[in-house]
Amino acid sequence: MTAAARPVDVIVAGLGAMGSAAAAHLAARGQRVLGLEQYQPAHDQGSSHGHSRVIRLAYFEHPSYVPLLRRAYALWKDLERETGRDLLTVTGGLMVGRPDSEVVRGTLESARQHDLPHEVLDAASIQRRFPPFTPASHLVGVFEPQAGVLRPEACVEAHLAVAATHGADLRFGERVTGWTAPPGGDGVEVQTDRGAYAASRLVLAPGAWAPDLFALPQLPLEVERQVLFWLDPAGGVAPFAPDRFPVYVWDHGAGVQVYGFPAQDGPPEGVKVAFFRTGRGTRCTPQTIDRHVHPDEVTMMREAIAEVIPSLARGDLRAATTCMYTLTPDHHFVMGPHPRHPQVVLASPCSGHGFKFATVVGEILADLAIDGATAHPIALFDPLRFAGASAG
Ligand SMILES: Cc1cc2nc3c(=O)[nH]c(=O)nc-3n(C[C@H](O)[C@H](O)[C@H](O)COP(=O)(O)OP(=O)(O)OC[C@H]3O[C@@H](n4cnc5c(N)ncnc54)[C@H](O)[C@@H]3O)c2cc1C
Repeated sequence: MTAAARPVDVIVAGLGAMGSAAAAHLAARGQRVLGLEQYQPAHDQGSSHGHSRVIRLAYFEHPSYVPLLRRAYALWKDLERETGRDLLTVTGGLMVGRPDSEVVRGTLESARQHDLPHEVLDAASIQRRFPPFTPASHLVGVFEPQAGVLRPEACVEAHLAVAATHGADLRFGERVTGWTAPPGGDGVEVQTDRGAYAASRLVLAPGAWAPDLFALPQLPLEVERQVLFWLDPAGGVAPFAPDRFPVYVWDHGAGVQVYGFPAQDGPPEGVKVAFFRTGRGTRCTPQTIDRHVHPDEVTMMREAIAEVIPSLARGDLRAATTCMYTLTPDHHFVMGPHPRHPQVVLASPCSGHGFKFATVVGEILADLAIDGATAHPIALFDPLRFAGASAG
């Protein structure tokens, strides 16, 4: 039997955070799934590596993410139960900035709108409660108890395991080179560097490779290089232990935001910190990204936290690595049917904040591939929302 004759319901292209989740949900619902991934499981060449991801429920980016987050949390718990893996540690989260900053204002708005437990802390209370932080007196923090840390590689592996348990055919080291689908109709053909496959539906979850694979020029996606740093705090790691130190986002204003984590078991050893938004990112493609981290970048990171987490700023550098954001102009996700090919589902839930949603994204992508619609609120993620501005 040739590969093209396999009776596949859904092909999932890309098995990173979102594709692995989609494959798991589709296979669990009885769909025959073929998953295609150019690299190996939970690799470090895309957007889903680096040992930790922030999850938080109060969402400064937009209050309408909160219902999705509630579902995402429930599904992460289900995934832990189903696979017996430890994926999520709740540490609490602290959003710090001026009272009128995006991070503080937006977190409070979403917490109040959705009645989420939270505390507002002044600078002195922040430092008393979390001694590594040394905020200036005009800054405030919003603490939310449900925030925490996800282990991204383990999460991807867990979704892949669920998909395989339910019979998905997952192929690694196989690159999708193109796809064709009759406009408005049923059925797709997917070409790879090894062959061609037919299926009823296609889910495209290619992360930073989306600009090539989506075939939707009206969608202005840009890929941005990011750097992650692990520093060994001067004075020791104890004050950064996950039972006493939260995940945090620190809004410096002018579009610059820093975030970080408590100490986690290595490797790499150390306490991870990074820029969430730099205000002036480095554009790249997966082919052109500079994966080397330069000394001036380490200096810039140290300077950004010198006054707010001084013991970390002075710490020895243990490791640094790069990662890619796939950005939309409004920093909201892209999720929905391809406008010309409804049998093809597009998924780019990134803009630097998608990981925490991977479970619910898997559920949504399965809804869209099977039923063509979902009950989840995804209007914000319409793939065509920029078409007016860029059509020419
Ligand atoms: C530094 C950094 C920090 C982040 N921090 C957070 C955070 O704290 N919290 C949070 O919620 N989010 C965070 N994010 C964002 C989050 O990690 C991403 O939104 C998420 O990982 C995107 O998942 P994805 O499945 O779209 O991409 P990926 O996980 O990269 O998966 C895409 C997959 O498709 C494969 N692929 C692509 N093209 C092809 C092809 N042609 N053929 C076969 N396979 C293909 C790729 O190899 C890859 O495995 C962060 C991202 C980065 C980079």
